[in-house]
Amino acid sequence: MGSSGAKGRILYLPFDHLHRKHGVLKHLQKDDVILLVESERMADASKFHPVRLYFLISSARHFAEELRAEGLTVEYIKAPTTLDGISVAKKKHGIRNVVAAHQSSYRLQSALDSIGTTFVENDFFLTSRELFNSWAESQKSHLMENFYRKQRVRLGILMEGSQPVGGQWNFDAENRDPLPKGHVAAPYLEHRADAIDIEVAQELGIAAPAEWATTRAGAQRVLKHFLDNHFENFGRFEDAMNSADWAVHHSLISPYLNNGLLHPTEVITAALKKFEGGSIPIASCEAFIRQIIGWREYINGMYWYLGEGYKAENQLQATRPLLPLFNNSSKTEMNCVRSIVSDVEKRSWVHHIPRLMVLSNLALIAGVDPQAYLEWMRNQFIDASDWVMVPNVIGMGVHADGGRMMTKPYAAGGAYISRMSDYCKGCSFDPKKRTGNDACPFTTLYWDFLDRNYDEFAGNHRMAQQLAGLKRLSDLGETRERAREVLKGLSAGTI
Ligand SMILES: Cc1cc2nc3c(=O)[nH]c(=O)nc-3n(C[C@H](O)[C@H](O)[C@H](O)COP(=O)(O)OP(=O)(O)OC[C@H]3O[C@@H](n4cnc5c(N)ncnc54)[C@H](O)[C@@H]3O)c2cc1C
Ligand code: SF4
Repeated sequence: MGSSGAKGRILYLPFDHLHRKHGVLKHLQKDDVILLVESERMADASKFHPVRLYFLISSARHFAEELRAEGLTVEYIKAPTTLDGISVAKKKHGIRNVVAAHQSSYRLQSALDSIGTTFVENDFFLTSRELFNSWAESQKSHLMENFYRKQRVRLGILMEGSQPVGGQWNFDAENRDPLPKGHVAAPYLEHRADAIDIEVAQELGIAAPAEWATTRAGAQRVLKHFLDNHFENFGRFEDAMNSADWAVHHSLISPYLNNGLLHPTEVITAALKKFEGGSIPIASCEAFIRQIIGWREYINGMYWYLGEGYKAENQLQATRPLLPLFNNSSKTEMNCVRSIVSDVEKRSWVHHIPRLMVLSNLALIAGVDPQAYLEWMRNQFIDASDWVMVPNVIGMGVHADGGRMMTKPYAAGGAYISRMSDYCKGCSFDPKKRTGNDACPFTTLYWDFLDRNYDEFAGNHRMAQQLAGLKRLSDLGETRERAREVLKGLSAGTI
C-alpha cells in the first residue's frame, strides 16, 4: 500500500471501478475520503452517445449514494478534468495522499502518475498484467485460443483432470447457426428508473432508457435473467443477427463488467453453477466461459502488452474519412447497416457480430481511416473503454495492426451477412451480385479490398484461398468500376 499512512487519504475511484470489494475500496481504512470525479471531458454530451453517458453517470451517482448510506465519507465532484477534481478534494479535506487502483487506460494512468498517486492492484480482471506479459513474451504469434487454453488449466475451469470437459477445448463448430425461420425474440429485462436515473436523464435531455440497469442489484438481475432465459441458446446462435431481435441471446453484461458493477469471478461462478444443473449444453457454456476468461482477459492483456502507440497503427494505409452513415442511419440504403446503426442510435449497443462483421467489416473494406472509426465507436458504445475498444477495433475490426493480433482480416461479402441474418430480404441490393446497380456493396467491396491490398496479403498463407478466388474472377474490371461508384456513394451518404 505504499507509504500513504493510516489516516487522511483520498481514495480515487474512477467510474469503471464501481465495486465495494475490489480495486481501491478493498483497501479502505477509517478516515479515508472516497472521491469520484465527473469530469467535463468524460461527460461531454456533444461527443458521447447520451445513453452511454446516462449509464456511466447514473451508475456512479448510485454507487456514491450506496457508499454514503454505509456511513463512508464520499466526495462526488464535477470538474473540468479528473486532476482538477482531485485537487478540489485535496484542498477541501487538507489531504495530500491520493491512492487508486491501477487505471484502465494509459491516459488516466499517466495523469494520476503525474500527481504522485500511490497505486494498488487493479483486480477487475482475472489475469495480472505481469502474468499476461509473461505469456505474450513466450509466444511467436498471440493466438487467443492458446491463451484461453492456458486460462482453463490455470483457473481450473471446465476441466476434468488435465482434459477439457466434453473432450474438446472449443465447440465453435457447433455454434454458427442462423436463427430458425419465424424466430420470435425472447424478452429482455426492463429497468424502472428511480430518482437518480431520472435526474441524470433530464440533465442529458433524454428519457431514462429501460434497457440498462444502473445499480449492482440491477446488474445482478441482468446476469440472472441471461442465465435463466438465454444461456442455453447462447452458443448455438452466438453469430446470428436479426432485425427483430436486438440482443439474440447475448448476455448484455459488458457495461457492468466494464464499470465494475459485476466482477468476472461472480459471472463465471454463476454460469458454472447453472451449467452443473444440467440444462445448459456444453457448447453454450464453453462459448460463454471463453468470452469471459478468454477474450475479455486476452483483450485487456494485449492492450497493455502492445503499448500506447498501438492505437495509432494504420498498416493498410486507410484514409477515407468516416462515412456519413455511421452518424446517421438514414444516410444508407443498405438494410443491414441502416438497421444496425439505428440500433446503436437507440441503445448505444449491438452485439459482437454486427460490430465485427457489419460495422467494422464495412470500415475495413471501404478503407475508412482506422482512428476515425475507432473514435466513432468509442463515442457511441455504452461499454467502450480504451482497454477494450482499442485492440478490438485496431486489431480485430479493421486489421490496422498488420496482423499483430489476428492472423487475417475479418473481411466478408454479402453472402456472410445473408447467411447469418434476415437483413438481405428487405434490402434493395442483392448479396450475390458484385457488379451492377443492385450489387451488394459488401460483395463488391470485399473483392475490391482484396484486389487493392493484394501485395499486403500475398505472403499470408491464411489468405491464399481468398486471393486464389480473386484471381479466378472473370469480371474484375467491372467489379473495380462498381467499387469506385460504391465508395463514392458511401462517402456521399447516398448508397
Ligand atoms: C469492433 C469491436 C469493438 C468492440 N468494442 C467493445 C467495447 O468497447 N467494449 C466491450 O466490452 N466489448 C467490445 N467488443 C467485444 C464484444 O462485442 C462485446 O463485449 C459484446 O458484444 C458485449 O455484449 P454482451 O455483454 O452481450 O456479450 P456476450 O456476447 O454475452 O459475451 C459475454 C462477455 O464476454 C466479453 N467479451 C466477449 N468478446 C469480447 C471481446 N472481443 N473483447 C472483450 N470482451 C469480450 C464481454 O465482457 C461480454 O460482456 C467489441 C468487439 C468488436 C468486434
Ligand atoms: S444485400 Fe448487402 S447491403 Fe443489403 S442487407 Fe444484404 S449484406 Fe446488407
